[in-house]
Amino acid sequence: MKMIERKQLRQKPEKGTALGFGRYFTDYMFTMKYNEKEGWHDAQIEPNEPVRFDLATTIFHYAQGIFEGMKAFVQPDGKIAVFRPEENWARMNRSAARMCIPQFPAELAEEGLEELLKVERDWIPTEPGTALYIRPTIIATRVMLGVHASTEYLFFIILSPVGSYYAHGLEPTKLLVEDFYVRSAIGGTGEAKCLGNYAASMKAGEEAEEKGFDQVLWLDAKEKKYVEEVGSMNMFFVIDGEVVTPELVGSILPGITRKSCLQILRDRGYRVSERRISIDEVIAAAENGKLDEAFGTGTAAVISPVGLIRYKGKDYTINGGKMGDVTRMLYDTITGIQYGKREDPYGWKKIVG
Ligand SMILES: *Cc1c(COP(=O)(O)O)cnc(C)c1O
Repeated sequence: MKMIERKQLRQKPEKGTALGFGRYFTDYMFTMKYNEKEGWHDAQIEPNEPVRFDLATTIFHYAQGIFEGMKAFVQPDGKIAVFRPEENWARMNRSAARMCIPQFPAELAEEGLEELLKVERDWIPTEPGTALYIRPTIIATRVMLGVHASTEYLFFIILSPVGSYYAHGLEPTKLLVEDFYVRSAIGGTGEAKCLGNYAASMKAGEEAEEKGFDQVLWLDAKEKKYVEEVGSMNMFFVIDGEVVTPELVGSILPGITRKSCLQILRDRGYRVSERRISIDEVIAAAENGKLDEAFGTGTAAVISPVGLIRYKGKDYTINGGKMGDVTRMLYDTITGIQYGKREDPYGWKKIVG
């Protein structure tokens, strides 16, 4: 693959720096372009540096864009592993279809990612809980103000060494159940990892943060009755021994961590359901002492215990505000596979270099 070298490399964060999430970026990126005549072309590794765009470019006005999130991990033998990348490429092409973005060849994206990771190997942090976050994105690049699907696109992958997603690490999060704003409706774009979903959710997020919460727990748009997800995480509840996650009704992002957790739970004989779950059922369980655990799942946060939820002005503490056994088991299993500390019976880890 073609590579354009940079003149000067960036300063890497010193060992022991609190990396946070998405604050540091590596030296190079993978890019490819699309136009109607050539299809996807010009795949290359190039310096990750500011790029100039005409301000009439479609992406800035109509948010015709999608993204993905994955992580790369250093294995005990020094090799680089990525968690289930084929799932991300498949989902990205589903998001593309929803947003009128042309399908891209997943093999070429994977090849680009693997080349990039080999070049940027030294950027992968090795302290416990850290990883190299991978952000593939496609944006509409035609210069045109008419409201139409673009005829030109840029696909890029940038990389960011990250620590934990939440400032407080594995401490249980506090969620505010949102009963006014909505994230997504059936028939909308909630199932796609598209840029506009996040812009639309920021107002509720900011208001929740002002009240001291980490994130918003979204309800369905139509009845404000059923639990959906948390904006960057899918939700699970352990109620009276049953592990429940909202079923994928079309307004929920189909998380790969969610899918992985379901498989682990089923294989270990847990009673698992993907079904609609009303907020009333969650609250009743909390009141009756049957809400054993609640946690979110996502690439960025991995498995994140929920210690408290507020609904209609009332606070419900879950599991004494501590991480529960199911949450812990899933966290240990998934991170164990990712960091090469446990066997990977599913073949979820792809060794890329
Ligand atoms: C990315 C994302 C998730 C988590 O998906 P993973 O594939 O597990 O990382 C959940 N909800 C939303 C809205 C997301 O964007």
